[in-house]
Amino acid sequence: MNLYVIATPIGNLEDITIRALNILKIVDFIVCEDTRVTKRLLEHYQISKPLFSYHQHSGERVIEKIKELLKADQSIAYLSDAGTPGISDPGGKLVETLVKEFDDNLKIIPLPGPSAILAALSVSGFPTDSFLFLGFVPNKKGRQTYLKQIAEQNITVVCYESVYRIEKFLNEIDLLMPKRKLMLGRELTKKFECLYRGYPHEILVKLKNDKVKGEFVIVFAPANFK
Ligand code: SAM
Repeated sequence: MNLYVIATPIGNLEDITIRALNILKIVDFIVCEDTRVTKRLLEHYQISKPLFSYHQHSGERVIEKIKELLKADQSIAYLSDAGTPGISDPGGKLVETLVKEFDDNLKIIPLPGPSAILAALSVSGFPTDSFLFLGFVPNKKGRQTYLKQIAEQNITVVCYESVYRIEKFLNEIDLLMPKRKLMLGRELTKKFECLYRGYPHEILVKLKNDKVKGEFVIVFAPANFK
C-alpha cells in the first residue's frame, strides 16, 4: 500500500524532479486536485495513467474509492494543482484522513519539489532561519487578528493573497505598518514573474504601474529588521 505525495511545478513545467516523473510512470492511479491541470503536466511528459480528482468539495465517495484502491494494494500518486501537496491545498486533508484510517499500515512517501512559499523566501533577502507561514489572508472573519499577528512578529512572515484582494490588503498593511519591508513574489517561475520589494506604499505604486495579474506570495521582513 503506497501513497506518493508528489510536488509539481508552480508554473514552469520543467520544475519537476526526475524521481517524480519516474514514480508517475509506475503508479496504478493518479489522484489530483483538478484533472485539467494535471492532464496538462502529464501530457507534457507523455505520461498516461488512470486519473481522478480529489478536491476540497469531494465527498466521502472519493475518499472511500481511494481507501478501497489502497486496500487492494494499488499504488496511488497524489498531486495538487501546483507545488507541494498539503500546503494550503486539499492534499493536507487527504493525508490526515488516510493516516487516521491506516496509521503505519499505509506507506506514505513524500516526493519534495517546488513550493511557492520556499521559492519566495529564497529570494526575499529577509532572515529565513525561522519564519511563520500564515496561509491565505482571511477574507472577513479573523482578518484584524491576522494583521495584528503579522505586525507583531520579529521573524519573517509569509502569506498568500489572491489577485482580487492584493491591493486592499496592501492598503491595510500600509495603514497598520507603513515602515515594514516587504517582498511580493508574483507569478513565480512563469513568463511574467516579478519580484516587488519595498515599503507597502512603494509596492502599491509599482503594482498600479504594472497591470496587476497573477498569483502572489507576500513575504514580510521581521518587525525589527533594519
Ligand atoms: N501547495 C502550493 C505550494 O506548495 O506552493 C500552494 C497552494 S495554494 C492553494 C495556491 C497559492 O499559492 C496561490 O493562491 C498563490 O498565493 C500561491 N502561488 C502558487 N503558485 C504561485 C506562483 N507561481 N507565484 C506566486 N504565488 C503562487
